[in-house]
This record gives sequence, structure tokens and C-alpha cells, in this order.
Amino acid sequence: MTSELSALRVLLIDDEPFQLKLLSRQFANLGLQDVQTCQDARVALARLKQEPAHFDLVCCDLQMPDMDGIEFVRHLGELRFGGGLVLVSGEDKRILQTAQRLAESHTLRVLGALHKPVMPEQLKTTLRLATQARAATRAVHAAYPANEVALAIEQAQLVNYYQPKVELASGRLAGVEALVRWQHPEDGLVMPDRFIGVAEEHGLIDDLTRCVLAGPNGALQQARSWQDMGCALQVAVNVSMDSLTDHAFPDYVAQAVAAAGVPASRLMLEVTESRAMKDPMATLDILTRLRLRRIGLSIDDFGTGHSSLAQLRDIPFDELKVDRSFVHGACANEALRAILQPSLNMARQLGMKTVAEGVEDIDDWQYLQAAGCDVAQGYFIGRPMPPGHLLGWLAEWEVRRGALLA
Ligand code: C2E
Ligand code: CA
Ligand code: CA
Repeated sequence: MTSELSALRVLLIDDEPFQLKLLSRQFANLGLQDVQTCQDARVALARLKQEPAHFDLVCCDLQMPDMDGIEFVRHLGELRFGGGLVLVSGEDKRILQTAQRLAESHTLRVLGALHKPVMPEQLKTTLRLATQARAATRAVHAAYPANEVALAIEQAQLVNYYQPKVELASGRLAGVEALVRWQHPEDGLVMPDRFIGVAEEHGLIDDLTRCVLAGPNGALQQARSWQDMGCALQVAVNVSMDSLTDHAFPDYVAQAVAAAGVPASRLMLEVTESRAMKDPMATLDILTRLRLRRIGLSIDDFGTGHSSLAQLRDIPFDELKVDRSFVHGACANEALRAILQPSLNMARQLGMKTVAEGVEDIDDWQYLQAAGCDVAQGYFIGRPMPPGHLLGWLAEWEVRRGALLA
């Protein structure tokens, strides 16, 4: 571990020479050999631009005169910096938390938000994360090129995993969400963040959706198999707003549902607005026609700014899924509760079912139960799994469920 630590290449940015000296000494004490310092965020950016892959870790102060930490982080995001980021600040905790979220929204890998003065133990923990992240980054984060994604769709290398959604009041299994993975011939199981964006940008997302929904091992076929086993489970499929501009989509879905031999209401489409809607009227038209065909509609990632109030006003959703960034830890975080609770109330007033995603521990579970949320989904209940594992999971859940409700 120590040798891995010492190999980390770090860039420190702080306008105060004293702070820089102090931090570099702390890094040196932990055995790090390649620690560069920089007093000006602009200069740091230039250095990072020149050699984007050189640094494993960037450690940045928030309060700086020329370019502050928030602006720096935005540029770092634009550079698609793949290493770890640590934010350091003497400001209050809320500001650090906000800065951290901003950095994450630029898809930067934030390893820590440290309050000055930085404690050696904290630093050590953060650096451990950095060594793990470095190992993972190269293997796990880069997106695949579009031609490979196209081939994966064509050669049926995409597989659906399913994650349970359970009722908070009864613990009853309410349905499952299909989450696509790519069974890559060389790289193993690849997560969707490495190919969904690519598919969206290169006009492949419609083909991907069709494959996930109605392919030979698609969600509808799976719903039919479970139905044949006496298990009438609602199956949710993610659809990006991007693919809701095709007027033929509602008929296509209705026909696929009929061909699979399951009722339309057995299917739920989870919709997120990944970018600005290209054609809001067309989308409204298509979503309304899906509703008329009795297909369920869920507004996904609610609260993230992608899924907005305007959509709630305009589109007849049956279900609202509060994004996991407002769920996990809500019971101990007032700011999260201030968003979560009104979202639940509003959905209820609009006659929608509420789902919380990202339920990771018993505190989350109990808080949501008390808050009157209808359905929970998350690692606490069950991780996404191959369809063949679902009944085994259900048997174990029945036991845990008894204990939870007792
Ligand atoms: P999403 O729709 O918000 O799906 C939930 C994501 O959160 C899943 O990530 C799931 O594995 C993860 N998750 C579930 N429970 C927990 C928890 O307790 N804690 C945490 N931290 N995470 C949890 P996954 O499978 O990597 O999918 C990422 C995203 O990729 C999905 O986010 C969805 O937007 C997109 N996606 C997945 N499958 C498809 C698909 O077939 N079509 C489209 N268009 N998008 C898809
Ligand atoms: Ca979803
Ligand atoms: Ca989400």
C-alpha cells in the first residue's frame, strides 16, 4: 500500500504559499514523491491541459483571488480530467458540500472535501481512495467508441439486470427495473455509463431501447417468463427523452407488449430528460399516447434539474422517482429532507405513486416509511441482478421483510 501511495502524482493548488508548503510537507510525510504545487489556478489548468494524464490527483483550494475553486472545477470538468479531485477549504461545510456536488455534476471523481487545517489521518484516508481510484479509472471509466457500441447492439451483447422495487408499508415486491449491461467479450460486464451517453450522441439509442425492451432477452420477454411462473411483476425500462421524438414509438411499444402476451400496465417506462428536449410538443404528444395505451410512465431522477416541474405540469406521469442524491442520508441531512418531503407531498397530491431510489441502509428505509413514500429501491433491498437470481433474492427478502416489519 505504501509503495502505491508514494507513486501517486499530485498537483496542489492554493494561492497562499504557506498553505502550499504545509500541505506538501504533509504529503511528503506520507511518502509521496511527485507533488507539484501551483499558486494560480490558470497556470495549473494550462499544465493539466498539456499533460492530462500525468496527475492522479488534484488538490484544490476553493478561495482563490483570480480563478476560484468553483470556476477551476468547471474547467477541469471540461478537460474531462480523469484523476481524483480533493477540495480543500476554510469555508463552512455547506460551501464545501455544494462545491463537491458541483464537481460531481461535472462528472469529476471527488475523493474528498477537506476542511482546513487538514488532519494527517484524513489526508491518508483520501490518498488511499486515490490509489484505488487510479487503478479503477483506467479500466473502468472511459466511454467506448460508437462503432463498438453499435456492434454490441447488433451482436446482442447487451443483457438486462433487474433491481427490485418494494412497497415500504408492506415490504411486498412491487416490480423491477431493467438496467442494461454490456457483456463484453474481453472486458467483462460493462456498466451503462460507459455506453448510454455514446449511444445517445450517435443516434444508437433507439436501437438500444428496442433491444432492452423487446429483444429476445428483453424486458417484455422476461415479464412474460415471470408471468408464466405465476409471478405477475411490473417491469420498468429506461427511455431517454431523446428517443421520444418518433411518432411511431407508442404503436411500436403497444405492439411489442401485445406480442409478448403481457398486459400494457405490466410495463413502466422511466423517462429522464438527459438533455434539453429537442421537440417538447412531439414528446408531450408521444407520452400522452403511451398513457392512452395504458403503459405506465415514470418521471425518473426527479429533483436533478433534468426532470423538472414543467414536465410534471404537462405530462401525465403515474409515478415519480426521487433521485438517489436526495434519498440516501436524508434522515440526517436537513437540506435533503427539505427537498425530499415536498416532492413526495406534491406527487401524492397529483395522484402519483412515489418511489425513492438509492435506499442504502435501514435509516433510509425507516425515514422513507415515516415520510409516507410508497416504494423503495436500492442496495439495502437488493442490487441489480441477472433475471435468474430474482426468485432466490425474493426468498431471502421474505425473511428479512418479516424482521423489518416486526
Ligand atoms: P437510473 O435510471 O437512475 O438507475 C439507477 C442507478 O442507480 C442504477 O445504476 C443502479 O444500479 C443504481 N443504484 C441502485 N440502487 C442504488 C443504491 O442504493 N445506491 C447507489 N449509489 N446506486 C444505486 P446503473 O445500472 O449503473 O445505471 C445507470 C444509469 O444508466 C441509469 O440510472 C439509467 O439512467 C441509465 N440506464 C440503464 N439502463 C438503461 C437503458 O436500458 N436505457 C437507457 N436509456 N438508460 C439506461
Ligand atoms: Ca431509472
Ligand atoms: Ca437516478
